[in-house]
Amino acid sequence: MIKSKVISANGQKVILEDNTEITDFDYLFLCTGSRYDLDSLTINQSQSGEKAAKIIRGNEGADYIHAVNDIAKAKRFAVIGSGPVGIEILGELLEKYPKTETVLISADSTIMKRASPNSHEAFYKYLSKKKNLKMILGQRVTEIQGNKIKTDKGATIDADVIFVCTGFKPNTEYAVKGMPQFVDSKGYLKVNEYLQVGDYKTVFGLGDCIDADTEKLGQNILFSHVPKIIKTLQNIEMGEKPVAHKPETRQVLVSIGPKYGIMVTDKKVIAKGWLMGMLKKLLYIMDHV
Ligand SMILES: Cc1cc2nc3c(=O)[nH]c(=O)nc-3n(C[C@H](O)[C@H](O)[C@H](O)COP(=O)(O)OP(=O)(O)OC[C@H]3O[C@@H](n4cnc5c(N)ncnc54)[C@H](O)[C@@H]3O)c2cc1C
Repeated sequence: MIKSKVISANGQKVILEDNTEITDFDYLFLCTGSRYDLDSLTINQSQSGEKAAKIIRGNEGADYIHAVNDIAKAKRFAVIGSGPVGIEILGELLEKYPKTETVLISADSTIMKRASPNSHEAFYKYLSKKKNLKMILGQRVTEIQGNKIKTDKGATIDADVIFVCTGFKPNTEYAVKGMPQFVDSKGYLKVNEYLQVGDYKTVFGLGDCIDADTEKLGQNILFSHVPKIIKTLQNIEMGEKPVAHKPETRQVLVSIGPKYGIMVTDKKVIAKGWLMGMLKKLLYIMDHV
């Protein structure tokens, strides 16, 4: 095992950050995942006279730990993004801080855009009952200046703590360097139906960093990417035809606070209510024992 960052990779060569070159491999598996970052927003926190809001990246545990006091003292929260990460954070905030004004801002005009159309309504209906929540949908945040959030439709929203849940960015800078022709405009590795990267037969991409599967889920890796790649390797070694990868419908259980949840696919709402909230809690407990 080598603990290092890969700075360039392609089918012939992998280069580590200390410039070590690795060339003696038969197969290369690229599973570098994705991260949350704030690149998509213009953030100006140092303008004189502006009170700076605390900014938290949606899935960065460390950001929450550093903001515990700011969260407790906040008069207004803003959550940017209406995908599963934004909605789960929003649900927890509404439950724990029912008196704190909370604003959801999303460039999407629906909640959980990638899920089925009837689920958009189910999420909206549940959330619209929350008295301390204001929803601003269909407006893209362009800038955060001090504690002011500005949108492309001219709205300005003040907030003390801002949760940025605007989606992931693939960790593929090494591929941009080593094989830019096989990276799409969003930074995902371009894979074919056998999860082979670009024209390479011996380079595979799997997990969150590839352009297959609309919803990036650990389930895809476990139930689809890994078994298919293993089978394909066997087929290649035996001189047989590999197995094609087809994106499959997966169930996503989104909790809205500890007492409610909605289980959806991209085609329908499977179940909703307190039992789904309990199920999510149970899954969380099982994950942590
Ligand atoms: C809040 C949240 C809730 C989720 N809930 C669910 C759920 O309920 N069900 C579900 O199925 N999925 C869920 N997911 C999605 C799931 O976590 C991801 O799909 C999964 O973690 C992706 O795994 P991965 O191995 O592709 O990437 P990662 O887990 O991101 O791992 C990537 C690895 O590559 C390393 N790496 C990156 N770049 C380099 C480099 N240049 N050189 C060397 N190493 C590098 C990283 O350090 C890391 O170790 C959730 C995600 C989030 C954020």
